[in-house]
Amino acid sequence: MDAIITLDIGGTNTRCALFHTEKDDPVSIEKVNTSVNNEPAINRIIEVVEKSWPKDRKVVGIAAAAPGSIDVIKNEVILAPNIAGWQDYPLGEILEKHFNTKVLVNNDARMAAVGEWKRGAGRGHNDILYYTVSTGLGGGVITGGHILQGSRGIATEVGHIVLDDNGPLCGCGKAGHFESYSSGTGIQHHVERKIKEGAATILKTAAPSSREIAEAAKAGDELALEAFEIGGYYMGIAVSNYLHIFNPTCVIFGGGVTLSFDLIMPSFRASLEKHVLNPLYLKDLKIALAELGDNAGLIGTYEYMKQNV
Ligand SMILES: [Zn+2]
Repeated sequence: MDAIITLDIGGTNTRCALFHTEKDDPVSIEKVNTSVNNEPAINRIIEVVEKSWPKDRKVVGIAAAAPGSIDVIKNEVILAPNIAGWQDYPLGEILEKHFNTKVLVNNDARMAAVGEWKRGAGRGHNDILYYTVSTGLGGGVITGGHILQGSRGIATEVGHIVLDDNGPLCGCGKAGHFESYSSGTGIQHHVERKIKEGAATILKTAAPSSREIAEAAKAGDELALEAFEIGGYYMGIAVSNYLHIFNPTCVIFGGGVTLSFDLIMPSFRASLEKHVLNPLYLKDLKIALAELGDNAGLIGTYEYMKQNV
C-alpha cells in the first residue's frame, strides 16, 4: 500500500500530513515551528517528515506547499521573504536526495486553491478564482479543469496585480498592488495613515491590529468602516479583472480576513457590479468562503501529488 506526505510550510509554522492513497483524509498531521533559534528551516522540515514517515507503506511522493515565488519546473523556491536564506533555494532537490522519493514544490496559496477545488467550496467547478486574504494576499486559478501555472510556475500572483501605480506601498515594495488595499496589512496601513493625518476614531493606538479595526468597525467607527469599504472596493476591481480574463463560475475567499467579510462584502459586490463589462459575468457566479480552513494547503498538495504520480 502507498502513502503520500504533504507539507504546508509557513514563515512561523510548518504542518506535515501523512495520507494513505486509498483515503481522502490525512492519517496524521504534525506541526512544528519552522525556525527555532536561527536554525535552518530545512532541519525542522526534514525532522517533521521523518516523524510522519509510515513504517509499513511505501511513500510514493512528498508534495510541499511553500510561501513566495516557486519555480515549479526546477522545484525551487525563487524567493520566500519570510524564511531566512530561501532565495533560489533547491527545496525539491534537497528533500528528494534525503528521502529518495519524488518531490513536488508549489506555491502555498495555489495549493489551497487546489484543495478548495477538489474537496472544498469549489467542488464541481472547472473554472475557479481563489484568494487567501490574510496579512498578505495570494491565490490561484483553475481554468478548464487545469491549474493555471504559467511557463515557470509563477503565474497568478493575484495579490500583486497593479490597481493604481500611485497607490500605497505593497509588502513586495511596489506601489498600488491589490494586496496594498485589501489584505489585513493593507487595511491596517490605511487606518494608520489616516490616524497620522488626524482622522477621528475610537481606536486608541497609532497602529491598531486587524482585530481591533474590525471591532471598531462593528461598533460603527467611521474610519474603521472606511478601511474595510476601500478594501472591498479594490477587491471588486481585482475580481472583475479576473472575470474578464477567464470567466470563472466560482470565486472563493479564504484566510483570516474572511472573519470580517461582512464588513467587506457590501462595497465588494457594489464595486464588482460597477466594474464588470457585462452582467453575464456575474450570472450564476458562485461567491463563497473557503471550507477547508487550515487544511486547504495539506489537502491541495495531496490532490496535486495524486495527479502527478
Ligand atoms: Zn505587491
